[in-house]
Amino acid sequence: MPELPEVETLRRQVEGALAGTVWERVTAVPASVFRTPARDLQDGLAGARLLRVGRRGKILLLAFDGGQTLLVHLGMSGQLLLCPPVSPPPRHHHLTVGLEDGRMLVYRDPRRFGFVRLARDADLSDLRELAGVGHDPLDGSRSWEEFASGFAGRAGAVKAVLLQQDMLAGIGNVYADEILHEARVQPTRGAGTLTPPEKKNLFHAVRDLLARAVSLGGTSFDEAFVDLFGRPGLYGMHLKVYGRSGEPCTRCHTRLKEATVGGRSSVFCPHCQV
Ligand SMILES: [Zn+2]
Repeated sequence: MPELPEVETLRRQVEGALAGTVWERVTAVPASVFRTPARDLQDGLAGARLLRVGRRGKILLLAFDGGQTLLVHLGMSGQLLLCPPVSPPPRHHHLTVGLEDGRMLVYRDPRRFGFVRLARDADLSDLRELAGVGHDPLDGSRSWEEFASGFAGRAGAVKAVLLQQDMLAGIGNVYADEILHEARVQPTRGAGTLTPPEKKNLFHAVRDLLARAVSLGGTSFDEAFVDLFGRPGLYGMHLKVYGRSGEPCTRCHTRLKEATVGGRSSVFCPHCQV
């Protein structure tokens, strides 16, 4: 499932490749992923010029002239693909956009857990999709003390807290495990038991690890995530714990264990994570 690094990879690519382009010939095939009726998507986007691409957590925000923004969430298996001219659209495509230069942008989501919504800019602050989206871990304006204060009043395991989107937006099961290994904290630890130095370590682990993952284009599992040009992310070969239960810890060679935290499987090192 795409998390912050995968969505940020896509954000940078879409902005780099498509900012300034006019969306011609928009075709929306009615699908459950559309929270705006297909007809309204077609009418609203046809002829619109893409100005810039933002992100809130795992949601892409494509801002157009005329005061509209397209929200795109990849769900489990969503993809945005930029296809060369005259290539047939890939299967399971829901939205296709013909660009001025003949290329085609495609949104597809075979499992349909994602969504697409077109909103007026003036209405963005009221959208339920954006309510409760917390601080962005890649936003460097926050100090570790502010990060630490975010733990106040949050009970439960530290991993469950990392997954709370109103605490930090965009972290999912994969990167939560990786971050906790980097910070040497066990996922089952009560969030309230973390010492200030541990919270400081965790703060840096969140930022550093996500930034490294973005620099490698994120992680592709079962090819569910590919970037705008159809390429998989390269961070998968750097995963230290996720998917490696029973294998040796890369840091201390202890056999990695698995536990369930908040219903999610979690892999950690019982020796160097405390
Ligand atoms: Zn270890």
